[in-house]
Amino acid sequence: MRKYKMLLAGEPVDAASGETFESFNPYTGRPWALIPRAAAEDVDRAVAAARHAFRSPEWRGLTPTARGKLLSRLADVIAARADELAEYETRDNGKLILEMRAQLRYLPEWFRYFAGLADKLEGRVIPIDRPGIFNYTLEEPLGVVAAIVPWNSPLMLAAWKMAPALAAGNTFVWKPSEHSSVSALEMAPLFAEAGLPPGVVNIVTGFGTEIGDALVAHPDVAKVAFTGGDATGAQVYQTAARNIKPVVMELGGKSANIVFADADLDNAVKGVVSGIFAATGQTCVAGSRALVHRSIHDEFVERFLALARTARMGDPLEESTQVGPITTRPQYDKVLGYIDIAKSEGARCALGGGPAARPECGDGWFVEPTVFTDVGPSMRIAQEEVFGPVLAVIPFDTDDEAVEIANGTQYGLAAGVWTSDVARCLTMAQRLEAGTVWINTYRVSSPLSPFGGYKRSGFGRESGLLAIREFVQEKSVLIETSGAKVPNPFIVR
Ligand code: NAD
Repeated sequence: MRKYKMLLAGEPVDAASGETFESFNPYTGRPWALIPRAAAEDVDRAVAAARHAFRSPEWRGLTPTARGKLLSRLADVIAARADELAEYETRDNGKLILEMRAQLRYLPEWFRYFAGLADKLEGRVIPIDRPGIFNYTLEEPLGVVAAIVPWNSPLMLAAWKMAPALAAGNTFVWKPSEHSSVSALEMAPLFAEAGLPPGVVNIVTGFGTEIGDALVAHPDVAKVAFTGGDATGAQVYQTAARNIKPVVMELGGKSANIVFADADLDNAVKGVVSGIFAATGQTCVAGSRALVHRSIHDEFVERFLALARTARMGDPLEESTQVGPITTRPQYDKVLGYIDIAKSEGARCALGGGPAARPECGDGWFVEPTVFTDVGPSMRIAQEEVFGPVLAVIPFDTDDEAVEIANGTQYGLAAGVWTSDVARCLTMAQRLEAGTVWINTYRVSSPLSPFGGYKRSGFGRESGLLAIREFVQEKSVLIETSGAKVPNPFIVR
């Protein structure tokens, strides 16, 4: 069993209590790593280290250009270790090695993009309407940013927060998920290797229910960047509100992949398969509802099932595997629970519908790729996030009906549209209530492109030009330049 340490003030440390917990390999269902089990006092240590680093001349004294260079160096250091980090992620969260490798090889681009923005926070000169006053603004960092991330893409979701937060001059306390802390702790030495001063990035590991509140409520945490489920998000938001603290919320989804009659059906079938079965459906943008025009419904379903049946399940470290295990035992139970709910609601199970009892799945937490047809838009399977390989197929007759069904959930993270009609592309992009709309493609992301939710899927944006603005505050400076005497001091100017 590998035993890990947290990262506080640049040092590898145990939890103050010395306690640890086990991290499981979802493919074997067995523990493989020991992770420090932090408590509130460890959170205090982490935030104090980040606060100290924020005020230190080694960090605050850097020019924004020099800060950007450090982030570029961090990108290079990560790039050199990408495949190794990917393997740790696969062992820890069970996602396919091909996917994690692609993700980790691309991850440095987030640091490069925001490195480039570090010295472009320019402030403004305001042509103020008060004679004799010179008014300009400064774009200043907030202080200590706390990042709380889930288990499905541990390093990527952390990087989406860390890169803009550091580029803007903040320091960082990172709490990975208790289900996938290994890659964060493997990454810990890379910050010093890249030349970041100690304490700029700190990693505190443990259970959200034990240290989440302490971190979010900590008076020296200036902002919380949260990715996770909406129920947890609501708790984090409440704690932040009680402490008058801003948050970025990246929450769950129930994304619709809409297939029109004029779509290239081959592409649409592949796109919808990838939308729901890639990452075993454990992605916030999973296209977990397929809305299919009634005129092509049967043909689409037939082709979809034919392709889905070919999915190779098994060891996620094998490059030939296409569907891996569910990351955690509770999530495995939850997915199976939703399959039962769908059956009891009257949806027709056209594929899968239970645990995968295949020899290649060993003792892992595998669920068969599952497809429900005859799904009504108001059924729970069409409304609630499953976060697993379960697709609900819903027929529609008109564009208006497709829009109504697609928008008819409390979520609004992403949507997919499959059509060959340009006018329809444009109108659907406008009418869908989702932070991302993919048209004739699915799951494309980039550091250049804003990402975030509408409605209950959250608020604030990660990636893209404006993401860095989540981590700055604007200060207005007003200077009297005319040399005039201060007028009547009892009247505000
Ligand atoms: P989760 O909400 O259970 O946990 C997320 C994180 O919050 C973990 O680090 C956890 O330890 C922590 N946490 C738990 N309770 C807390 C508390 N009371 N205070 C503070 N932190 C607490 O989510 P999960 O099961 O790890 O991940 C799956 C969810 O994440 C899904 O809903 C998925 O849609 C969502 N997600 C969203 C995005 C996005 O960008 N919108 C991306 C990936 C995943």
